[in-house]
Amino acid sequence: MRYTQYLLPTLKENPADAEVISHQLMMRAGMIRKVAAGIYSYLPFGLRSIRKMEQIVREEMDRAGAIECLMPMANPAELWQESGRWEKYGKELLRFKDRKETEFCMGPTHEEVVTDIIRNTVKSYKQLPLNLYQIQTKFRDEIRPRFGLMRGREFIMKDAYSFDLDDEGAAASYQKMYQAYRNIFQRCGLKFRSVEADSGAIGGSSSHEFMVLAESGEDAIVSCSGCEYAANVEKAEVLPPQAVEVVNGEPTKVETPECRSIEEVAEFLQRPSAQLVKTLIVETDQGACVAVLLRGDHELNEIKLSHVLGCDQIALADDDLVRKVTGAPVGYLGPLGMKLKVVADQALQGMSNFVVGANQVDSHFTGVNLGDFKVEQFADLRQAIVGDPCPRCAGGKFEIWRGIEVGHVFNLGTKYSEAMNATVLDDQGKARALVMGCYGIGIGRTVAAAIEQNHDENGMFLPLPLAPFQALVLIINPKDDTVREAAEAIYQALLDLGVEVLLDDRDERPGIKFKDADLVGIPLRITVGARSLKEGNVELKQRASGELQMLSVDAVAQRVRQLVSAALAAE
Ligand code: ATP
Ligand code: MG
Repeated sequence: MRYTQYLLPTLKENPADAEVISHQLMMRAGMIRKVAAGIYSYLPFGLRSIRKMEQIVREEMDRAGAIECLMPMANPAELWQESGRWEKYGKELLRFKDRKETEFCMGPTHEEVVTDIIRNTVKSYKQLPLNLYQIQTKFRDEIRPRFGLMRGREFIMKDAYSFDLDDEGAAASYQKMYQAYRNIFQRCGLKFRSVEADSGAIGGSSSHEFMVLAESGEDAIVSCSGCEYAANVEKAEVLPPQAVEVVNGEPTKVETPECRSIEEVAEFLQRPSAQLVKTLIVETDQGACVAVLLRGDHELNEIKLSHVLGCDQIALADDDLVRKVTGAPVGYLGPLGMKLKVVADQALQGMSNFVVGANQVDSHFTGVNLGDFKVEQFADLRQAIVGDPCPRCAGGKFEIWRGIEVGHVFNLGTKYSEAMNATVLDDQGKARALVMGCYGIGIGRTVAAAIEQNHDENGMFLPLPLAPFQALVLIINPKDDTVREAAEAIYQALLDLGVEVLLDDRDERPGIKFKDADLVGIPLRITVGARSLKEGNVELKQRASGELQMLSVDAVAQRVRQLVSAALAAE
């Protein structure tokens, strides 16, 4: 490809609305352009990376025995009503009507459609197992689309769905996908971890997320210093505390003027916040209010609490609601005399002689113990923190780092097959609901995550398997016939060897060309200029490592091809 005949509109400045590096660089390197919030066009240069990612995914899916299909973006409401998700999904689901007033949605994921295909085509256990996948455009009306392709509203996803007769088969299908995912992210040249995850609204019992490690990641991930345990913070289990000896005390009311926050009370009473208990009021999606107790220095994990309360979502009550349901002022809530149902984090079982609010302005109780009030249930309700002991091994401690979720594997069980009556006959002729799994990879998000992991102050350097081109031939002065002819010969030799090459034949100042080369980060750069050409040489530079080598005009193409083959084989 010749630059002069290509569309590669690089930008000098970062766009004002681009907060993270990958978004800035994808805009500046002419890979994407915004059309509306969370909706982008892929320009030719960006599309090349997207297609490479898709190809790696396709090859590994095929290798794992999954079969490619393609389902529609427009999904009829009917199917979604059958699964129950038409009601449940909320505003991320973009709904619309056709000219006959029939309701549709844009598919954010395709369990319904694929289950419908299978129930209409598969009748016998002998046709199983089956795994169908597609690489397709999804739409989710995200509340905060941001970070470019990382969290778009319209985005490309690979989604696969497995169908088995029983749990054992489903576990094997899950395992195959898990391994395929490891292969995929390894081939992309990414540093990643697979972590235990919460299965969220889609449902199902077990799930893993694949996380690319990056500072800008939206997810916090916990891993153990001593073993392989890793989990999303939403899910990370916290061990119960050591039992404590209760120091007998009497709840004593003390004045705490103007002290509402944990910090203010701790400071005023000269007690560490770990000796305070905070009381939060939450409202469930069924409209019930519950009081939740946590150690002062701990944070609530809303997902754990939702599971304990058996609801899909909870929200912290606002001040008005708190006053209405407790009759107490915000900032001074406590469990003594609380009228609402009380649930407590298990850490309280390791506390004695603590401080709680007195449900009265400017007052708290000290010397409080568990026997002084009623707790309906103790459970693991808090967010894991650095240094928590590992739930799987002795001596290991939690570390916390940030990551970008690029893939997700779920075991769905029979949630959809039962709701939609997708059954097959087993070897006894009995109808059985199919056991399903679903497996997603964000194609654009993975490319963006790869840039988050591979950039410097001058630009990006995508790993070669994902880079738009493998080699760049940069002509310092295309008006010099000797230089231009040597570069053309190298360009042709590379094309003949099957290397994906871009020839920068623009009549621009060398400074501009080098800047663009660094910005777009094609892995192997061959610079052809008059000075080195006098000795019959050109310069080969590797963008990621900065490694330089002088090579003869005749040898350079072969060397580039070797490096390309090595990079593709290594991953
Ligand atoms: P998140 O928690 O980031 O919203 P999710 O749990 O909703 O992700 P899944 O439903 O598991 O995501 O979708 C599978 C994959 O699709 C994700 O692992 C991610 O790579 C990608 N993905 C999800 N939402 C988006 C989005 N808004 N933009 C780009 N990619 C996305
Ligand atoms: Mg989401």
